[in-house]
Amino acid sequence: MAGCSSGKRSYVSEAIAVEALIEAHVQFDYGNRSGPIAVYPCDECGQFHLTSTGSINKKLEQFIADGTLQKLRTASKWSGKWR
Ligand SMILES: [Zn+2]
Repeated sequence: MAGCSSGKRSYVSEAIAVEALIEAHVQFDYGNRSGPIAVYPCDECGQFHLTSTGSINKKLEQFIADGTLQKLRTASKWSGKWR
């Protein structure tokens, strides 16, 4: 399937999109209220995209609140995965 006219990266399922959302926050320190915060189903391509508007994804919110995101970030720095 060709890309979507939204120009955004498409994810075949919500679970995969959420995974990418978390991964993005591990890779980049977006700080407060910036970067993608949720995923949504696209009417046009039928797949999922990330969005920086709307309400925050529950899993991302939880990962931030319970420190999981910080742990993943530290782990990825140590592994050098993103360098
Ligand atoms: Zn789309």
